[in-house]
Amino acid sequence: MKVKFNNIGKKYEGRENFTLRNINLEIDDQDFCVILGPSGCGKTTLLRMVAGLNSITEGDLMFNDIRVNKVPSKDRDIAMVFQSYALYPHMTVYENMAFSLSMRKERKKVIHERVMEAAEVLQIKDYLYSKPSDISGGQRQRVALGRAMVRKPSVFLMDEPLSNLDAKLREHMRVELVRLHKSLGTTTIYVTHDQVEAMTMATKIVLMNEGKIQQAGKPDEFYNTPHNIFVAKFIGSPTINLIEGKLTKGIFVSNDGEISITPSVEDCKILKAYEGKKVTVGIRPERFISGCHPKDTFDCTIDVIERLGKEKILYAKTKSGQEFIISTPGHYEYEEGEKHTFGFDLPALHFFDTDTQERIN
Ligand code: ATP
Repeated sequence: MKVKFNNIGKKYEGRENFTLRNINLEIDDQDFCVILGPSGCGKTTLLRMVAGLNSITEGDLMFNDIRVNKVPSKDRDIAMVFQSYALYPHMTVYENMAFSLSMRKERKKVIHERVMEAAEVLQIKDYLYSKPSDISGGQRQRVALGRAMVRKPSVFLMDEPLSNLDAKLREHMRVELVRLHKSLGTTTIYVTHDQVEAMTMATKIVLMNEGKIQQAGKPDEFYNTPHNIFVAKFIGSPTINLIEGKLTKGIFVSNDGEISITPSVEDCKILKAYEGKKVTVGIRPERFISGCHPKDTFDCTIDVIERLGKEKILYAKTKSGQEFIISTPGHYEYEEGEKHTFGFDLPALHFFDTDTQERIN
């Protein structure tokens, strides 16, 4: 099913301002759309509007080109999976999964087939007759998914479903969810504040901040061409390096005068309009060049090294205090306290207008 937001806004009663405004978004059939953003940006509000649990103040919510603003939740053909699982503790796993279908007065044979089918896919057949309290967190989360699956909805809505799991299990469930989505092909809208979940699972990411969409698109676009400084900082770990400065005769000079960069020929053309203006340069931690480099290098002292095995993350400072995070292959030798010279991989630089925070190149 296709889900479309036409200029949607939401203002809660008693609140002075709109929580969400001007939300325009198209989620295609079979998309795995991750709504991403910091706490309080309005992700859950958006999801609950799709679920029919929140009223819509303005705009049109469309399911396959049909307006559903006033359609009650039970008639929307959706199924929701929550962070808290919300399983009934007195029922077995089987009964939990069968519950919504029994309420719909579905035939026993159909219920049994659906439960067994979901249990097979989710590999939970061995504990169908256990109570939720007797199974692990990861297993409970699978049951919650199973309970949604048996309904064969047109849209899955998931609100931080993995956040109660430990890091290892989260990693495992991420892959399982992607597999599940591939095999079912059901349109999924998934809310999280975790950029790793978004980057690894989504076919489409929608990054929000303060009730507005900052960027919507494919995961790679977020990393390679962030539309503004907020997006650049939100996506990527370790975080992107940002240097504030000015363009003088086509050359970027940092505010402290310590770093100068001659942009690539391509960027030079686009940056012409910014001559004399405040510009911020962004560079991802893995896009520095170590060792000799013909020009535009900077000297820094490494004060902390994180040794992660496959990579080393260097935390370094220039003389005037500009901080850099530099990611290097794990087998490179660096020591704390050492001075090093680095250069910039010019085609990998991101240029932003410091005043508007918007991307330039
Ligand atoms: P989190 O990741 O912390 O769950 P979120 O991005 O999902 O945050 P929402 O829960 O959608 O954000 O909340 C967005 C804003 O709307 C917050 O300022 C919140 O206080 C407000 N809000 C949410 N629910 C209500 C409500 N029922 N009545 C009034 N204000 C609300």
